[in-house]
Amino acid sequence: MIESVTAAVARGLSTAGGRPVRLTAVVAKRDGSTIPIDVEVAGERLRAFAADTDDPAVLAWWIADRVIDIVQEDLYHGEPFPPCPGHAHPAVVEVCEDRAYLCCPLNRAEPLLYLHGGREADEVPQAREAWPGGR
Ligand SMILES: [Zn+2]
Repeated sequence: MIESVTAAVARGLSTAGGRPVRLTAVVAKRDGSTIPIDVEVAGERLRAFAADTDDPAVLAWWIADRVIDIVQEDLYHGEPFPPCPGHAHPAVVEVCEDRAYLCCPLNRAEPLLYLHGGREADEVPQAREAWPGGR
């Protein structure tokens, strides 16, 4: 479950971020509290720590939220990642019931791109318009 959630989050962040984001969950070191996630963006490698949970939507939220934070702070030095379409701020990750998705922080109820559950990015018109370079 961790591997598939991690792969889906990487696909979503690659689409929204405009460049490949490689994520590897370091499952061997899973200790019941946090899951180390190796992050590779544009040749740079970092490690994020997601909270351990058996809920895949919540896990997707944790992974995406942590990865977004460290990419912005440590790699992009404050540049929005992923950029929110038409705005100067970054998109944020939200979880609702069994879905996790990227959205504008000013409109958290409207998914732009699903990271878990819901539809694939190709099937979400807002995602195609928002991030035409992706997929
Ligand atoms: Zn916005």
